[in-house]
Amino acid sequence: MKTMKTMRLNRVTSALLVLGLVGAALGVATAQQPPTLTPEQLDRLTIRPIPGKEGLYLLPGFDGSLSGGNVAVLVTGEGVLIVDNKFAYSYDNITRQIASVTTQPIRYVLNTHHHFDHAGSNADFMPQAQVIGHENVRVNMLRNAGPSADPVGAPPITFSDKTSVFLGGVPVEAHHLGCGHTNGDSVIYFPDQQTVHTGDLFIWGNRLDGSTLAPFIDYDNGGCAADWIATLDGLLQLDFDTVIPGHGPLLNKAEIRIFRDKFDHLVSRITALIDAGIGRDAIVSELDINDLNWPLAPAAIQAIYDELTSG
Ligand SMILES: [Zn+2]
Repeated sequence: MKTMKTMRLNRVTSALLVLGLVGAALGVATAQQPPTLTPEQLDRLTIRPIPGKEGLYLLPGFDGSLSGGNVAVLVTGEGVLIVDNKFAYSYDNITRQIASVTTQPIRYVLNTHHHFDHAGSNADFMPQAQVIGHENVRVNMLRNAGPSADPVGAPPITFSDKTSVFLGGVPVEAHHLGCGHTNGDSVIYFPDQQTVHTGDLFIWGNRLDGSTLAPFIDYDNGGCAADWIATLDGLLQLDFDTVIPGHGPLLNKAEIRIFRDKFDHLVSRITALIDAGIGRDAIVSELDINDLNWPLAPAAIQAIYDELTSG
């Protein structure tokens, strides 16, 4: 429970920082238990095949409060591999939805990072599946949980830079390309399907409530702004055409380039203001990022300022 609470508080903080809306807390508060969704929202969250990508399905997610993150589902003749698993209460929904498209058992769960809206039901999958994540996913989960008696869901199998799973002859690769959203982000690459699940290194569009998604740098868990761009450059070197973002709709490689360039503008403009002698208090009013359409709260901008001035 402490895990959930700690991470939920982090998420509340981030949501408030990003949105600057007290109302956002209402949505985040539902993260402990399933929210009540409209038929239209439920339809948007229903599993669907990814067109032209053999064996790959998307179990959609649009935010960190109502829907959780996107889940990728690979169905093979020897079982199912999933990427991410939404919230702590999402196990039943995920398994029910996967059972609607295959009778194969879920054998592998890969985590893109440790956040509760992506790896929340790790513990529920462990009796039946191998749960794999970057070594910092495990470190972050255990640290954030503290001396908790609850199942933390930290992945028992970890890796440092890259690992692969071959299921039913289908290769799946997990690449840790550097820091960004956290210090434990992985992109999960399906080379045969030319598809990548980016985790929250890349998010796009709107939440279920219509508010705009903006990148969140989780400094408490090793996130970074400046090197996030290099991490995206590493991602862009992989050979793929289809993208499952951490949150948002199915996209193409072009949108990652746009996101990367926006991030570069953000960091470059803050750097230029620092070089011009602008201080921490004035940075928010001096920075013009309206064209980026990322609703970053003052505290989020100042956190980047702190990173860039820390030497
Ligand atoms: Zn996240």
